[in-house]
Amino acid sequence: MDAAVDAYAVLGIARDADAATMRAAYLRLARAYHPDKAAHADTHERIRLINAAYETLRDPALHAAYEVRRAAYLAQMDQTRAPRIADSVDVDALDVEGEGDTMRLTYPCRCGQQYLVTPAEIAQGQAYFGCSGCSEVIRLVYDRED
Ligand SMILES: [Zn+2]
Repeated sequence: MDAAVDAYAVLGIARDADAATMRAAYLRLARAYHPDKAAHADTHERIRLINAAYETLRDPALHAAYEVRRAAYLAQMDQTRAPRIADSVDVDALDVEGEGDTMRLTYPCRCGQQYLVTPAEIAQGQAYFGCSGCSEVIRLVYDRED
């Protein structure tokens, strides 16, 4: 099974689906995409994927090996994907909480959590900050260009 493909999504099952649920999903799909019944142009590729997903997930050894490859694939995708910038925020627009050593600056995220920025990070000119509650990123703007 290609690590780029989500085998669970192919079968339309949850990650914690039991063997009976998995088998039922496979049989339903195998019938729906059987070459004798389905006339879709992509049926051949589809049934190949369905078979590969089921053969992989039902076999403990193949399943474990797939999970390792899948995790490595996803980790690599995370590293190569450029951060999605939700917002550019002027440094003056941050909310200030506390003072002295405990001072920190925050900016609200639309998910309800917030971005946390420390004075040390500002002193270093750090530009990108991740939200504490989701995967969004803001870019901090120090010198507004007009
Ligand atoms: Zn967020």
